[in-house]
Amino acid sequence: MKALQYRSLGAAPEVVDIETPEPGPGQIRLKITAAGVCHSDEFIMSLPEDQYEYGLPLTLGHEAAGVVDKIGAGVKYIEEGQAMAVYGPWGCGLCYECSSGRENYCRNSGQYGIAPPGLGAPGAMAEYLVVDSARHLVPLGELDPVRNVALTDAGLTPYHAIKGSLEKLHSGSTAVVIGVGGLGHVAIQILRSLTPTTVVALDVDRAKLDLAASVGAQYSFPSEPGAVDMIKDLTSGLGVDAVFDFVTTQATLDLGQAMVRSQGDQVLVGVGSGTLPVGLAATSSWETTIRSPYWGSRTELFEVLELARDGAINVHTEVFPLERAPEAYEKLKNNQLIGRAVVVP
Ligand code: NAD
Ligand code: ZN
Repeated sequence: MKALQYRSLGAAPEVVDIETPEPGPGQIRLKITAAGVCHSDEFIMSLPEDQYEYGLPLTLGHEAAGVVDKIGAGVKYIEEGQAMAVYGPWGCGLCYECSSGRENYCRNSGQYGIAPPGLGAPGAMAEYLVVDSARHLVPLGELDPVRNVALTDAGLTPYHAIKGSLEKLHSGSTAVVIGVGGLGHVAIQILRSLTPTTVVALDVDRAKLDLAASVGAQYSFPSEPGAVDMIKDLTSGLGVDAVFDFVTTQATLDLGQAMVRSQGDQVLVGVGSGTLPVGLAATSSWETTIRSPYWGSRTELFEVLELARDGAINVHTEVFPLERAPEAYEKLKNNQLIGRAVVVP
């Protein structure tokens, strides 16, 4: 089968021919209908050798949708031909967190070397994907796989991040989304559909600010230090109740800290490597909460797909055939994508 692989450190990913995988006992093979292109892929491909821990060659793709194609021995309650989304942060399924659906925080994944598809295990940028357990499939139903595959990460991750701040996002509150890319443009829609908060979007790119407005942000400003004063003006000098940072470079962390109000949340979703001073003497906004959430739970993926069925979330997608997947990554790297790139084998 054809697959997009990251094959040598620092090189661009390439489309290659590899053997079609067979599902072992307990596993399910999907014929891939769509796979999303995430900035985290670009992040891992930028890592130097001493920090890269995902194996080579690595078939990319941790946002996956497909149709059940072949069922391994012992798998019950699943039928060939069913359309599925893949829950990506695989865990052991047995520990307390996994039993609560929070496999993203599995206690045993490190010990057993369990890795998500595309981030250690073979990923979804291929004609077929073997999923390790039926537990990691969520029925797509009538949802279009191409337009919704990104919800498995670009929807699930901001959903989980926002849910942790819901009680602060009451009427009269203000939330800031920094970085209106794949995750950020979905975050804006989730905030608008779950809360009465006023949403302010920040980005460095004019086209992304237009996207923010078109998906429901009431205000959008260039991401630069001057944004702090504009946002303070909007909030009677108080600052905002929550900042969702999908970039987390030093510049955006500093921006977020300067605009979050006392008792507000600063939620760090991006994988940028900035750092923040904390403590009573470090800022003038007391009792703020800083969180760095990772992906989301299985139950939350069901909820996100339900929001999409209700029409509350629409992913802005740009579609690439598998042969042109390297071009999608090139555009992602150069910040030339609007919304999410989706690869279709
Ligand atoms: P993306 O490339 O689609 O979007 C990034 C956006 O940030 C772009 O619109 C870009 O213009 C904007 N941006 C860049 N610099 C900025 C700045 N200084 N101020 C404001 N905006 C700026 O990326 P994505 O796929 O949406 O991923 C966003 C981040 O989230 C990445 O760092 C990714 O690795 C991370 N991520 C984290 C998790 C998690 O579980 N925590 C999951 C998925 C992705
Ligand atoms: Zn991702």
